[in-house]
Amino acid sequence: MNASAPFGSPGPLIDRFARSITYLRLSLTDRCDLRCTYCMPERMQFLPRADVLTLEEIYLAARAFMARGVRKIRLTGGEPLVRRDMIDLVRALGRHIGDDLDELTLTTNGTRLAEFAGDLADAGVRRINVSLDTRDPERFAALARRDMLGNVLAGIAAAREAGLAVKINTVALKGINEHEIADLVAWAHGEGYAITLIEVMPLGEVEGDRFDHYLPLDAVRHALEQRWTLVPSAARSGGPARYVDVVETGGRLGFITPLTGNFCEGCNRVRLTATGQLFMCLGGEGQVDLRAALRSDDREAALNDAFARAMGEKQERHDFAISGPGGRPRLARHMSVTGG
Ligand code: SAM
Ligand code: SF4
Repeated sequence: MNASAPFGSPGPLIDRFARSITYLRLSLTDRCDLRCTYCMPERMQFLPRADVLTLEEIYLAARAFMARGVRKIRLTGGEPLVRRDMIDLVRALGRHIGDDLDELTLTTNGTRLAEFAGDLADAGVRRINVSLDTRDPERFAALARRDMLGNVLAGIAAAREAGLAVKINTVALKGINEHEIADLVAWAHGEGYAITLIEVMPLGEVEGDRFDHYLPLDAVRHALEQRWTLVPSAARSGGPARYVDVVETGGRLGFITPLTGNFCEGCNRVRLTATGQLFMCLGGEGQVDLRAALRSDDREAALNDAFARAMGEKQERHDFAISGPGGRPRLARHMSVTGG
């Protein structure tokens, strides 16, 4: 990938609320080899392949962000590891670690991690998030609509062997995994992994009604406190999670509470979709077309203009509510478009 290509004149990204944007979530694809019921329908309508940025364009976009002060990049999707040749991009970005970039990381469902863990570590990745909502094979097959728990567990083990620090992400779902959460925490901590719980968010149409499975994390936390001593931690990962240390297990537990907690103050993130749409908020509609800027004849000017518009549009807080009128999600976009 061409590291010397022009990418616009630098200048920090600061929004109208004086928040500095230092963290980019980069979706490599909206496609996925699983179909988690809370994330997407079985017959998901994926973005047309012709609209998707090339890996070269994604790299160029990442360089443009780095030139404007972004220090952390998380690769996501859809499932980032299903994009062909994605490891070339990881290697190209990895060369900036320690220079323009503090951290390159990714969020994965783990199904292909056994294959790629070593390459990711060699490219400079040090920490990864792996999504795992259940360790029960039948529940996994029902929830992800694919019988692939074995691949995921093998992937997690391979990541550890490759020296990657693993954090497990678990969406808390009423009536599905709520009674397994304490066991998941105990398992993760026993294996030496941190674990973060996430409230289900109303993004995109899925077959069921998300409200049926919405589980506020304050209730989960209360239940865990009956079993363990949770000590609030000052630790921050640069993302929206708030942490506690679990005294009895010695492990760290995070909570991401977009619906019940303060999620937006101090937000330092933007998200670029696989088709080059820049979303300033996971829970908002505002977007700026970076693909047009990247493909413009005067790329530098177009990028500067696009970034200025983006910072003017970043909203103060998200628009989440579990559903809008008629029980439909407020935001039509699926999480797999922007990544987690
Ligand atoms: N496929 C990868 C994975 O599952 O880790 C990366 C993309 S996935 C969209 C990122 C994270 O978003 C996962 O942890 C997933 O559980 C979570 N997620 C997906 N849909 C969600 C929703 N509606 N509410 C809350 N979290 C969601
Ligand atoms: Fe795929 Fe991740 Fe969505 Fe599950 S949560 S369907 S693994 S993108």
